[in-house]
Amino acid sequence: MSKQCQSCGRPFTPRPQTPHQTYCTHPECQRERRRRWQQQKRQGDSDYRDNDIRNSKTWALENPRYWKQYRDENPEYVGRNRNLQQQRNQKQRSALIANEDVSNPSPQLPSGRYRIARILADGTIGGQTWIVEITPLMVQMDGEDV
Ligand SMILES: [Zn+2]
Repeated sequence: MSKQCQSCGRPFTPRPQTPHQTYCTHPECQRERRRRWQQQKRQGDSDYRDNDIRNSKTWALENPRYWKQYRDENPEYVGRNRNLQQQRNQKQRSALIANEDVSNPSPQLPSGRYRIARILADGTIGGQTWIVEITPLMVQMDGEDV
C-alpha cells in the first residue's frame, strides 16, 4: 500500500517493519522527520528540552570551530541572534531593576533589625508592629554572552 511522504509529498511504500512510516526514505525527508520530531519534543517536554539545550551547549563547546564557521557563513544569523540576546539582556535588566526597587528601597539602608508597622487607610498606625531583620541583597548582573 502506497502512502504520501509528509515532507516531499511523493508517494512511497512503507517498509513492512515500519507500517506507520509517514516519511519516505530520502535522506532529506528523514532529516525533516527528525527535525520535526525534535521540535515537537522540545515544545512538549521540558526535561527533554533542558537536556537537549545542555547537549547542544556541550556540543558547541566541544566544537567551537563549527560555530565559528557557521557564523562566518551566515552573517544574518549572527545579527539576528545578537538582537535577540540584546532584547533578552534588556528584559533581564528591567527585571533586576524592578526587583531592586522592591527589595532595596534605599541603597544606604544598612542591615539590621527594623520595626515595621502597618499604616491604615486613614493614615494612622495599625495596632500591631513587627520586628524584621533586613539584609540588603547583592544583585549580580550576568555578563553579556554574545
Ligand atoms: Zn519524502
